[in-house]
Amino acid sequence: KLITFEGGDGSGKSTQLRLTADWLTSIGKRIITTFEPGDTQLGAKIRQLLLSGEDVPVPECEMLLFLADRAQHVREVVQPALQRGDWVLCDRYSDSTLAYQLAARKLGAADELLRQMLTFAECGVTPDLTLWFDLPVSAALERMRQRQQAGEKSTRLDDEALSFHQRVTAAFASQAEAEPGRMMRVDAVGDIKSVEQQVHHIIRTRFSL
Ligand code: C5P
Repeated sequence: KLITFEGGDGSGKSTQLRLTADWLTSIGKRIITTFEPGDTQLGAKIRQLLLSGEDVPVPECEMLLFLADRAQHVREVVQPALQRGDWVLCDRYSDSTLAYQLAARKLGAADELLRQMLTFAECGVTPDLTLWFDLPVSAALERMRQRQQAGEKSTRLDDEALSFHQRVTAAFASQAEAEPGRMMRVDAVGDIKSVEQQVHHIIRTRFSL
């Protein structure tokens, strides 16, 4: 099974991914956890190109780099794990590309072509379930500020306009609406425990656990 974890920056998806991995492992599932961009040797270099801030790619170049990362990641990591029968928990996948590049970076004019390229990169590997961690942008910004003060990870959040992140959130919302069977909304406003309970409930229901 492939479960993807999606959401805006600061939505708590990565924390919930770790907790979900612990839980599924404790009930006997074989799990791998992975992420995009960057969880292959080549991908780590692509992530560096994308996120170091050294160069700022034009949106088209950014899109192609994210897809290049995915093409490598799916074939090298995700597909082999699924073929072994492992459960794969992936931090970001194609919904992020739709939200960040197509919607927020406004590449929507080439919508049809880009969706074909997305399919090409995915190589037939689509999520069995996608959890969308929905957090209002203002709350996400506050969490990111706290993280930065604590010296945790760097993010581009502060450099980018509020409206960019609002477009990201709106795009996730419309994707969830378009595919309610696959993509489920998680209310990410509450504390870690309450979000975790929602995740357990969704996964138990979806996979009859
Ligand atoms: O999920 P993670 O925090 O590792 O993402 C790293 C950065 O990449 C985030 O700032 C996110 O906004 C950005 N990103 C993006 N387009 C994607 C995926 C991630 O701009 N398709």
